[in-house]
Amino acid sequence: MASNSTTSTSQAVETLTKQISDMGLASKSTRQPGTSHHQKQPSQSKLPTKLTAGNASLKDRTNTSGSTVAKHANVPHVKSGLSKQITVVNESNPKSGTTKDVNGVSIGTYDGGLESDENPGPVVEGEVAEALALDSSKLGERPTREWNLHSFEIGRPLGKGKFGRVYMVRTKCEPHYITALKCLHKSEIVESGVEKQVRREIEIQRNLRHPNIIRLYGFFHDEKRIFLMLEFAGKGELYKQLSKCGKFSEKRSSRYIDQMADALSYLHSKHVIHRDIKPENLLLGINGELKIGDFGWSVHAPGNRRKTLCGTPDYLPPEMVLGKTHSEKVDLWALGVLTYEFLCGAPPFECSSGLNATYKRIAKVDFRVPSSVSPEAKDLIERLLVFVPDRRLPLTEVLKHPWIVKYRSRSSSKGES
Ligand code: AMP
Repeated sequence: MASNSTTSTSQAVETLTKQISDMGLASKSTRQPGTSHHQKQPSQSKLPTKLTAGNASLKDRTNTSGSTVAKHANVPHVKSGLSKQITVVNESNPKSGTTKDVNGVSIGTYDGGLESDENPGPVVEGEVAEALALDSSKLGERPTREWNLHSFEIGRPLGKGKFGRVYMVRTKCEPHYITALKCLHKSEIVESGVEKQVRREIEIQRNLRHPNIIRLYGFFHDEKRIFLMLEFAGKGELYKQLSKCGKFSEKRSSRYIDQMADALSYLHSKHVIHRDIKPENLLLGINGELKIGDFGWSVHAPGNRRKTLCGTPDYLPPEMVLGKTHSEKVDLWALGVLTYEFLCGAPPFECSSGLNATYKRIAKVDFRVPSSVSPEAKDLIERLLVFVPDRRLPLTEVLKHPWIVKYRSRSSSKGES
């Protein structure tokens, strides 16, 4: 379960590219949106400030800022096959077009979305423009490779997030790395007043190296947008799997929680609190391994205690609901909620009569574990969903818990089954 901190960027991407190639995953068609009852909702360009939504189930969950969670885009079917790289994508202006396979990997069909985006917004100027002038080639201790949009062949859309789209892309240069390119519109970031949050998310993620955390390989910007080169999660979104299955088996849940606990343990060792753990923020790698993919609410916590209300209502711990200061122990509570949701198909404090009722149940730690859940799993849930933060089972103990150890195999950090 050791962190993969020594792997270089190019090695990591190369391995991933090869793995995708070997598995032919990139050529698989993806389920069309609309077929799942676990639907992410279209995002709003603003992050409203108050808790106004009604009851938030996985199908229509909002975070506590009131912003709706990301919506996945229409994903076209992609043909597979082995052929040399020939692309009909224009070099200087990558308009929509079909890309050809390279090394047996298809990145799919580009829909022209980066050019035709409905609201690319005005050019951002002044101090905020400086804050958002994010370029990994210049930010490190020594200069690294410079990237721009023309460095990539753009493939199929992978999804749509709060501030823009995500595409499967391949570098034009050898060895044709595959990554997920996330585009963020600067004007929307500024409009929402989250420049600092976005900068923080990028700063946090660029320093993280863990097999269960999506790697940020690099980033660059143009006048209106910021682009993040992210590790490509070949098996997509975990919440879609949860939606498809209703709930997960004990084995599958245990393996995901094992990987999650390991990733959180790594984050906490770096003084990073995640604060927004939920199925929507989790992706799956090509071997089915869990990957934390969103750092929008993360904070560096060098010993300080914070009071900001954030995260998803169903995953909020009592200390946040009650407006008290909170620490990294919020992630332990959320791990308990996640364990429950994997096994039962719904979060433990979900309430049909609205958010306030959910908050009340959270504050009273009012939940019941169904009898279909094994005694070991129930024990872990009950040790994590504890009112007093310091009494929650520490991650080192989670990793040794009988329900976790029982299902761990040598390859368990690599895949779900
Ligand atoms: P986000 O803006 O992070 O919410 O991303 C929007 C959507 O894009 C997600 O819901 C995923 O479907 C997809 N996506 C984001 N990052 C990746 C990634 N690294 N690999 C594959 N798909 C991704």
